[in-house]
Amino acid sequence: MERMSRRTFITAAGAAALGGTLALAGCAPSASGNGKSGTTAADGAWVGTGMGKHGEIEVETVVKDGAITRINVLKSRETQGMGDTAIDELSQLIIDNQTLSVDTVSGATLSSMAFLAAVGDGLNQSGAKATDWQKRTHATLSLDESMPTSADVIVIGAGGAGFAAAITAANAGKKVILLEKMGIVGGDTSLSGGEMAVPGNWIQKKNGVADSPEQLAADMLKGGDYKGDPELVNVIANGTLDSSQWLTFEGGVSWEHDLLFFGGHSVKRSIIPKGHTGSEMIVKLNKRAGRISGLTVVKNMRATDLVKDKSGSVTSVKAESQLTGDSYTFTGKAVVLACGGFGSNVDMRVKYNPDMDAKILSTDSVAATGDGVTMGSAIGANLIDMQYIQTYPTCDPESGSLLYVDDMRLESLAIMINKEGKRFVEELDRRDVLSNAIKKQTGSMAYMLWNQNAADKTGLLEDHADEYENLESRGIIIKADTLAEAADHFGIDAAQLQKTVDAWNGYCKEGKDPDFNYRDTMTPIDGGPYYINSYKPAVHYTMGGLHINTNAEVLDDAGAVIPGLFAAGEVAGHKMGTNRLGSCSMADIYTFGRIAGAKAVAFAG
Ligand SMILES: Cc1cc2nc3c(=O)[nH]c(=O)nc-3n(C[C@H](O)[C@H](O)[C@H](O)COP(=O)(O)OP(=O)(O)OC[C@H]3O[C@@H](n4cnc5c(N)ncnc54)[C@H](O)[C@@H]3O)c2cc1C
Repeated sequence: MERMSRRTFITAAGAAALGGTLALAGCAPSASGNGKSGTTAADGAWVGTGMGKHGEIEVETVVKDGAITRINVLKSRETQGMGDTAIDELSQLIIDNQTLSVDTVSGATLSSMAFLAAVGDGLNQSGAKATDWQKRTHATLSLDESMPTSADVIVIGAGGAGFAAAITAANAGKKVILLEKMGIVGGDTSLSGGEMAVPGNWIQKKNGVADSPEQLAADMLKGGDYKGDPELVNVIANGTLDSSQWLTFEGGVSWEHDLLFFGGHSVKRSIIPKGHTGSEMIVKLNKRAGRISGLTVVKNMRATDLVKDKSGSVTSVKAESQLTGDSYTFTGKAVVLACGGFGSNVDMRVKYNPDMDAKILSTDSVAATGDGVTMGSAIGANLIDMQYIQTYPTCDPESGSLLYVDDMRLESLAIMINKEGKRFVEELDRRDVLSNAIKKQTGSMAYMLWNQNAADKTGLLEDHADEYENLESRGIIIKADTLAEAADHFGIDAAQLQKTVDAWNGYCKEGKDPDFNYRDTMTPIDGGPYYINSYKPAVHYTMGGLHINTNAEVLDDAGAVIPGLFAAGEVAGHKMGTNRLGSCSMADIYTFGRIAGAKAVAFAG
């Protein structure tokens, strides 16, 4: 069978959804119904398919008397809380308006396109023409007219930091409005692995691992070349255990019974949400938020300006509906900025660090455009550390997506090699060290090697089966019975690779890595099948942002507090120095998110 690239899949689905033919190559949808021909949809349950972000989705479109009465998703691996939310909203829109002329849900564009293609595919099976349905009267999601526009605290950005701030403030009895510019909540937090550095966590205790907040703070400061603010770092290091418990007991988040060893940390201390994904956190926090009276989440509402009252306090937010283009003002008594970083804003990246141009792809959400930085600086907030931009070392060389199968490295079960078949760096070193080392290899590219034992031990390939299949379809990952076969696929020097693996296995026996001084227990790679994948660094995290103090208050150029304005999460800088250690953002966003919420409550009075 001809290999169909991921891009081809997406293009096919996209063209279909946007008005092209809905006959999807490679799909053989099954259908049941009375099979009438003509342009009216025949009664029945018609099954169609589309290619989403995480593989094929299968949808059953139920038709009665020519109208769509129900749409059932039969198969989908779209991200929880993102793709499935978009699909639910579009289903309702289609049924209510009997049209396929609808917009995709922002933040879940690929899932939306795949879903629309699948419904169209089903309609074609029914004897109707999907293209006719796409020409029907256009329908859009509508704003909830009962939406409040005044509250005590306005929070901007419904990612991890925003939910932490909003839930904390609402639990304190305040009226809270949480504004989100996309059609779905979650931001980078949903895309993330959700792994969180927590010294003294329950798994460390069970395994007898000694650790402390002081040790985490020392690692973070060292990992950021001592450019981070020690006071802010201490707040994170001392607050993260409590934040993890808040996520568990207030949020209802579930965790894996395992830890990851992130580069630059001195001990294994990072807890993992269920399914190795931050969407576990967002789905649960969103649900929790929905049950707290006084907390309203307003989606598709982009904050554009911060407004000060006569006394100079920031109290209100101007915003624009992304559905209608209408302007709104949300009035409150305090404002929390939780809009995330600027990894997807190439102009902003280049303005502060010319090396971070468009040639470097990004792992981040399209929403990570630095809006908080723009709004804050417009009213005099100080920006700090803006030049420090982190690349993640092991990303999809074609799309920039962070590769979760490569967490095999963080499980201490994989080695990094180059085209010449040699190791070139200590696999658990800092992200900037790894990224710089990869850039110096042939083709500015490198490869990860592990074997079936590692795959079985971690279950990572099952957890990220969609990613695996996607990479395999494009030849970016290979599974082979022999090392030579796997090496040949990428043109890696197979003879040298065998020597490298033999040497590694020898080091494992001796418990010592004389080449790069590997910091964790080493596991031999002895016996196939073998897996190799290629990767490149991509922009991942922006260490700079709004200057805050330990109360999450935003400071101006003179170091004075801007009254009423708080910031938390990636939008706030000076915590990670030149380089963030993996899993420290989760420790940060939930700790400072909760502080920002509590301090905003106190300010609101
Ligand atoms: C693929 C990936 C994997 C990662 N894995 C990890 C990990 O395992 N552990 C870890 O610690 N860190 C990880 N990170 C980093 C971490 O996910 C982020 O730093 C963190 O989620 C940022 O949280 P936040 O709440 O500050 O911002 P976000 O989660 O990005 O939320 C910001 C929200 O604000 C909204 N917004 C932006 N502008 C506006 C506006 N003008 N008006 C209204 N809303 C707006 C956005 O749409 C978004 O929903 C990862 C990042 C990525 C991209």
